[in-house]
Amino acid sequence: HETQTTCWDHPKMTDLFQSLADLNNVRFSAYRTAIKIRRLQKALCLDLLDLNTTSEVFKQHKLSQNDQLIGVQDVITCLTTIYSGLEEKHKDMVNVPLCVDMCLNWLLNVYDSGRTGKIRVQSLKIGLMSLSKGLLEEKYRYLFKEVAGPTEMCDQRQLGLLLHDAIQIPRQLGEVAAFGGSNIEPSVRSCFQQNHNKPEITVKEFIDWMRLEPQSMVWLPVLHRVAAAETAKHQAKCNICKECPIVGFRYRSLKHFNYDVCQSCFFSGRTAKGHKLHYPMVEYCIPVST
Ligand SMILES: [Zn+2]
Repeated sequence: HETQTTCWDHPKMTDLFQSLADLNNVRFSAYRTAIKIRRLQKALCLDLLDLNTTSEVFKQHKLSQNDQLIGVQDVITCLTTIYSGLEEKHKDMVNVPLCVDMCLNWLLNVYDSGRTGKIRVQSLKIGLMSLSKGLLEEKYRYLFKEVAGPTEMCDQRQLGLLLHDAIQIPRQLGEVAAFGGSNIEPSVRSCFQQNHNKPEITVKEFIDWMRLEPQSMVWLPVLHRVAAAETAKHQAKCNICKECPIVGFRYRSLKHFNYDVCQSCFFSGRTAKGHKLHYPMVEYCIPVST
């Protein structure tokens, strides 16, 4: 893992960050990163925030100039609106001042590691929308819309800006290496190559490309699968730790009959006698009747 380049100021943020270290035994980087981001998302209560609401708050605060910088005070005002709205719906879960502090802390760590006290409006939006609650393709649509021009098309530079802001999220967790590093150029190229190097792409073309889960962004669809799997209970028993029912992701061998593994055993690479790690497994994040 890369060394951290940022400071975590709030004591709760320090606690959270330290707790993420026990996820380092997860063998697969996309899952490791997604599970870390999921924990972060919950700690910031952003798992309660509807994508649509996020977008409405940006409009309400007239945050339309994406290339402008926004100061800490204005970020706090915007976050206060977001969390006050959440508090109304989830009284027991949302502590407004704490959430505002934590989320501001996170945003600055991700987008202003040099602590200039300002972040780009677009970064604020991409960061908060990436961690909001919603359907995955709806999220892709919102993200695309932020960087697209008035014709609702997006050129290479605009896609680059989107990917750059998005990849700062895993980068701040020390998890950027697996996603091609901070250089998003190869991803931008792959997207436009898929679209015959047209000068601009539509939202549909962007979504079709994201469906292929490009290396720099794969953590985002995996984050959504992790969230979906969280409450899944499978009527199956883990062949290794004997957990039954399996909760979370369930892995089923394509080679051995009736061989199921829970996510904790699968991620840490535990195997039962006679089953090799490289044998193909199929992943279920929602219960199926097999
Ligand atoms: Zn297990």
